[in-house]
Amino acid sequence: MTTANAIVLIVEDEPEIAELIEFHAERAGMRPRIIHSGKLALELIRREKPDVIVLDLMLPDLDGLAVCRKLKQSEETRSIPILMVTAKGEESDIVAGIELGADDYVTKPFSPRVLMARISNVLRRTNAANEPSPTTDRMILLGGKLVIDLDRHTVTVDGVKAELTLTEFGILHYLAGRPGFVRTRDQIISSVHGKNTVLSSRTVDVHVTALRRKLDTLADCVETVRGVGYRFTDSSQSDDV
Ligand code: CA
Repeated sequence: MTTANAIVLIVEDEPEIAELIEFHAERAGMRPRIIHSGKLALELIRREKPDVIVLDLMLPDLDGLAVCRKLKQSEETRSIPILMVTAKGEESDIVAGIELGADDYVTKPFSPRVLMARISNVLRRTNAANEPSPTTDRMILLGGKLVIDLDRHTVTVDGVKAELTLTEFGILHYLAGRPGFVRTRDQIISSVHGKNTVLSSRTVDVHVTALRRKLDTLADCVETVRGVGYRFTDSSQSDDV
């Protein structure tokens, strides 16, 4: 699914904001639709399966997090990407939304340009994630500078082997599995939990610091998303704004 012709469902009770998003989505060649209520949004989404949902978290009837939870619980709607719109300072809502399965977020007030970039990122990444992944035991990233060998549990940085602990390896492997997606600390903890250690939120940060040091010149690929968590990012190719 590319940006052009994508059906964008805007779930937002404030008409000015909904219309602003609609205007820019239309201009980008998408097909926007507006709905002002969480409950009605659920019905419409089940019926019409939009390509992407721009979901305000503060809605009068059923709030955005509840909408997100219901969509991700249902087999038919689970794979539709969700971009949350939150108020500034609502990090706990962002964390909750991402753990429920939302794909990304913007905070109000947002620039239309940023919002449109996020929508096309989410569409593109969803498209890439749905393609069958080649059966390989190696992940080659950052233009070949970073290689993760899943069989041998080794990582090379610019051709040089980095000595990662199992936990560091687990964190890197998990984040690199979906570049561009924000992961919360709790998601990271569950992904490596039981492999060799018990982690807490704080120790995740300690492991990430150590991981970055070992990634050396590539340290920036593990990006901190303030108040939310971490994401793997390729800054040389990033079109995030
Ligand atoms: Ca609202």
